[in-house]
Amino acid sequence: MTPSQDAPGTGVLTSRYQRSVAAYWNQEKNPVNLRLGEVDGTYHHHYGIGQADWSVLDGPESSREERVVRELHRLECAQADLLADHLGDLGPGHRVLDAGCGRGGGSFVAHQRYGCRVDGISISESQVAFANEQARQRGVAQEVRFHFRNMLDTGFPAGSMSAIWNNESTMYVELALLFAEHARLLRRGGRYVTITGCYNDAYGLPSRAVSEINAHYICHVHPRSTYFKELAAHRLVPVGVVDLTAAAIPYWELRGRSALTTGIEDAFLEAYKGGSFQYLLIAADRV
Ligand code: SAH
Repeated sequence: MTPSQDAPGTGVLTSRYQRSVAAYWNQEKNPVNLRLGEVDGTYHHHYGIGQADWSVLDGPESSREERVVRELHRLECAQADLLADHLGDLGPGHRVLDAGCGRGGGSFVAHQRYGCRVDGISISESQVAFANEQARQRGVAQEVRFHFRNMLDTGFPAGSMSAIWNNESTMYVELALLFAEHARLLRRGGRYVTITGCYNDAYGLPSRAVSEINAHYICHVHPRSTYFKELAAHRLVPVGVVDLTAAAIPYWELRGRSALTTGIEDAFLEAYKGGSFQYLLIAADRV
């Protein structure tokens, strides 16, 4: 009998590296993720974009943290909305994949917006359990499902997806392997979107700040060039590229002045401002 892919551990984690990433996300309980999610029950594990309302720092000290939490959450929701804007022409008949789904926030955003069926996958079993419980509480468990699966080898049928996205999850995998699986899963004309940090080839090799980010998250930030090389090699033709680097800075500045710091704030600010790191949205069509 072939073990089910959803059975704990069976065949999903294929390297010691992946096991270490899974262990990181299984134990992750950073207030900067959980407190922000508690604002309205949508849990994101990505950063924010757009102008910050700095007035949240003024006013009564006793409610200052609450105001900052709400503002950081507003900025991370703006990021998720921007990604959803690029997913193309979707409706209730379509099926989409949230690759590296965290606690599921982006999957719910897409389902609410388009009514599409969403499968979210993560190599963290605790995230998958959390997200499935969220789907149950929201009454959408039939349409939004989360699975303990590897995005390099998902087990979903070829051509079954109308859209796939990676929101800050490409830096955990080799892009050649990832895009090969995405090209297999996407129907012709389907849409791929990623929002990601990448290092800037025009700066050179990764700066110290980029290396700190890699060490902090146990990840591997790719150069900008590798995205376009591997998209082109896997029948994914870019249709839009948005440089979000400047738009990402207010979030990090506000977060750095909050009580929710994780210690990586200065590295992000140095990397963005010094030009060694970029925050990009890339949308591509599967041809
Ligand atoms: N996209 C989510 C979470 C980003 S955090 C959001 O925007 O909120 C990175 C996520 O990538 C985590 O959920 C982690 O478990 C997942 N991940 C890392 N490597 C993976 C892999 N090989 N397969 C599936 N998920 C993976």
